Amino acid sequence: MIDPAQALRRLQEGNARFVNNLRADALASPVRRAEVADNHRPFAVILGCSDARVPAEIVFDQGLGDLFVIRVAGNIVTPSQIGSIEFAVERFGVQLVVVLGHSRCGAIDATLEALTRPGQAYSPGLRSIVDRVRPSIEGLLQTELAQDRSRLWQEAVRANIRASVNQLRHGSELLERLVLAGKLKVAGAEYALDSGEVAFLD
Ligand SMILES: [Zn+2]
Repeated sequence: MIDPAQALRRLQEGNARFVNNLRADALASPVRRAEVADNHRPFAVILGCSDARVPAEIVFDQGLGDLFVIRVAGNIVTPSQIGSIEFAVERFGVQLVVVLGHSRCGAIDATLEALTRPGQAYSPGLRSIVDRVRPSIEGLLQTELAQDRSRLWQEAVRANIRASVNQLRHGSELLERLVLAGKLKVAGAEYALDSGEVAFLD
């Protein structure tokens, strides 16, 4: 069993390899594929954004069988995401969940647009994402950040990551119990599109 601190270190070391262009190609080799075909034990869950520039396995330099990844625009928490995480925790004994947001997230931008220019038409599906992001960021519009669009966007990304972390810590009886017992850590992290670096928020 890989404890939360060890899992976090593995992710940080992998991200450092990615940033320094030292990725280990063997992690997706046929040998590795055979090793995990019948049995695998992912050591972390990543709830990340669907953005095509932020594939979790690549930015953390992990291989087949290493990460249990859920991706959805805006790294939002819905019941099916919670269920996926509960599955990974129970089935594989995963002890680390990372909510991975990123700079200049389009889902956050769409939500800011919806808040600042109401009346725009959204499909019901996109509206459901915007409505999940909205509560954590609308308060920022009442601050001086409203005058600075790029800082507002940056802070909104972080507020949304923290909101998802909070929802995972408290949105499920099973996850909450494990967090309180010290057997599960839920961490927020932000990926920088320009540098490739992942900064953990806590
Ligand atoms: Zn995004």
